[in-house]
Amino acid sequence: MIEILFLLLPVAAASGWWVARRERGGKRDGGVPSHPDFLRGLNYLLEEQPDKAIDTFIKLAEVDGETVETHLALGSLFRRRGEVDRAIRIHQNLIARKHLGPDLRGYALYELGQDYMRAGLLDRAEGLFEELVEIGLHRLSALNALREIYQQERDWLRCLRVAERLQSLTDQPMTAEMAHYHCELAEDAHRKQDFDGARRCLTEAQMVDPNCIRAAMLEGMMALEEGDSDQAVVIFLRVAKRGAAYVPEILPSLIEAAERSRRFDTRGLLEDLAKRYPSPPLLLSLGDVVLQESGAEAALDLLTLYLSRFADLAVLERLLDLETRLDLGITPGRHRIAIALDVVRQLLSGQPAYQCEQCGFQARALHWQCPSCKCWGRVVPLQPEPIVRETDRTEASSA
Ligand SMILES: [Zn+2]
Repeated sequence: MIEILFLLLPVAAASGWWVARRERGGKRDGGVPSHPDFLRGLNYLLEEQPDKAIDTFIKLAEVDGETVETHLALGSLFRRRGEVDRAIRIHQNLIARKHLGPDLRGYALYELGQDYMRAGLLDRAEGLFEELVEIGLHRLSALNALREIYQQERDWLRCLRVAERLQSLTDQPMTAEMAHYHCELAEDAHRKQDFDGARRCLTEAQMVDPNCIRAAMLEGMMALEEGDSDQAVVIFLRVAKRGAAYVPEILPSLIEAAERSRRFDTRGLLEDLAKRYPSPPLLLSLGDVVLQESGAEAALDLLTLYLSRFADLAVLERLLDLETRLDLGITPGRHRIAIALDVVRQLLSGQPAYQCEQCGFQARALHWQCPSCKCWGRVVPLQPEPIVRETDRTEASSA
């Protein structure tokens, strides 16, 4: 339904102009879609029949070639159907008309910009959206489109400028996005071995958004690289406090820093974290340390305790794996555990590890910008489900 509403936006906007201009009764840009077929076309759109709508609008355009609204509706429909060339031709022809009023011209320019973006002609789209911002037509949509283009071009400085402008024009806060742009700049500087520059960008990120987890993570990684293990541990603990869900992301670096540090004890640190933020990767890492220091039985107890509270395949896999490695000789029970282990491994291999809180997109790796909805900082590691026992259920239903 959202899709079809989005599809209808330009048509609705165009018919809005039609109504407004009809009420003003002033000089018209083109013909007015008084034809009943225009409304029939709109109805097809509402009934989610875009092909029939296109046929109707094409016939209408043939009969009444001057109608701007019909052409706008057609252009938008062609683009959304993937026929970008046809959409571009329609919008270019509209813009070339001599007597087109400024608002319809602005609308056609915006639509043409969208066509160019869809066709991957980012330079041309950029020029049109800049023109719209300059003349003050569709300024917010054009700025948002420019931000999208600069993101695709990974031009983070220009992203920042546009975001600042958007924030000043609307009440919509852009702090999370701006902090991520600073983080992207920090990563660019880091790649170029410009460590001071990277640090400056991370400070900027945390000034814009004091809760920026990504900036703290990068700061911790840089401290570790520079050999300041104590400082790295302190920063990683700050990351855990800001966003417990991200602890698995910093875990290998945190363990490395703790092992190098003389101030922190790795096992104590992991045990403390596991009490506060019990995630499967943390349990697995703690399980490794416990296995080395206290043996298999102690590690199995730790994993069993976790599985009595949370349903998680990775921890179950480790538990079964440890069971098969215990020296119990060849027994029928051992064979059954090996079969169960195969099943669990197969299920685990198809499991996503991350999900976007905004659109539900699932991924196997962490993306700071969601590949699907393009939101920043909304893809988070999936959390294991707490175990609900039959007794809990009956208690809940009788309460
Ligand atoms: Zn998303």
